[in-house]
Amino acid sequence: MKVVLQDLTKTYPNRNKKAPGQVVAVNDFTMEIPDGKLIGLLGPSGCGKSTTLNLLSGLQKPTSGKIFFGDDDVTNLPAENRGVGLVFQNYALYPHLTVKQNITFPLENLKGANKLTKQQMLEKATAAAKLVQIEELMDRKPSELSGGQQQRVAIARALVKMPRILLLDEPLSNLDARLRLQTREELRRIQRETGITTIFVTHDQEEAMSISDQIVVMNAGVVQQIGAPQQVYDDPMNLFVAKFLGTPPINVFSGTVKDGMLYIGEDAVLPCKGLDNQPVTVGIRPEGFRLSKTGSLVCNLKGVEVMGRDISVVSTHPHCESGNIRSIIGAENAVDTGSATVRFDLNPKKVFVFHAESGSRLRCTLE
Ligand code: ADP
Ligand code: MG
Repeated sequence: MKVVLQDLTKTYPNRNKKAPGQVVAVNDFTMEIPDGKLIGLLGPSGCGKSTTLNLLSGLQKPTSGKIFFGDDDVTNLPAENRGVGLVFQNYALYPHLTVKQNITFPLENLKGANKLTKQQMLEKATAAAKLVQIEELMDRKPSELSGGQQQRVAIARALVKMPRILLLDEPLSNLDARLRLQTREELRRIQRETGITTIFVTHDQEEAMSISDQIVVMNAGVVQQIGAPQQVYDDPMNLFVAKFLGTPPINVFSGTVKDGMLYIGEDAVLPCKGLDNQPVTVGIRPEGFRLSKTGSLVCNLKGVEVMGRDISVVSTHPHCESGNIRSIIGAENAVDTGSATVRFDLNPKKVFVFHAESGSRLRCTLE
């Protein structure tokens, strides 16, 4: 099912009595989500992710704007008639019911022509349990399951009615690191197998990048960028997006453009065509540094960390604004750890120039 968000806005009265007014939780969100895709809604805590999901589910009404499922305007449709499956961070299973009863619960109250027999309910519950691979746990109570298994039950419960849209709000946050990795792969598989249009909310950029067809990066209620994960990583629209994606994070420097050359401090790092002389902010991805004895960026060497295949060189530069510089280079490179300085050439594809005040990307040709 295609989903369209059209100029969607949600404001709340501000709870802070000292600064009365409105909180704009979601600000003019417009997007068309293609049928059958997995969308990762990504951003820091408080940026409006849950509010967006609640608007889609019908748990909350937008202040303005519209929502379409396919061609149906569902903006004013009650939540129970929207055909959405919801999964939250805290699995919210009924503790006194078995796994089987938890999964069949949404089917119990179907009325009229939709009413199911006990046998039909069991068949649907079994199919959903198979999908999330918990069919051997059907007679257990939630307290007899691990966190990961409980979350699978919650997903099965959301899937049992074969929803038109699946909405997941930080579903993996309560799982430990290893289980989180495993469960996100599972989620991807389930989404592919069912083909249900899915919106997956997370504050974890790596999680969103690894399983999404498209990511939506939000900040303070405003959509910053929408695109395929790699495309957004390779071509961020602004400094916020550049900083939010990537581990280790992008290195940020204050720089200047002068007469067709990009400078970081005194270091003339790259020819830069298409920009007037001005102060700028420069972002360099960790993989954008190349060790070179004659390199143009001169940094103070602090240390070297070997990480299997790669080496992380830790250094500083007086014009770096993001703390230590982390550069990732192949392990075949030898770093003279006795040296006080380390010099780098830069890969122009991994260098982004931003407006010094607004943080918007400045388009230019780096060579
Ligand atoms: P996220 O899920 O990205 O962490 P939310 O959508 O929960 O963010 O919240 C977005 C903003 O709206 C936050 O500033 C939050 O404080 C505010 N907010 C959320 N719910 C309410 C509410 N019921 N009343 C007032 N403000 C709210
Ligand atoms: Mg939230």
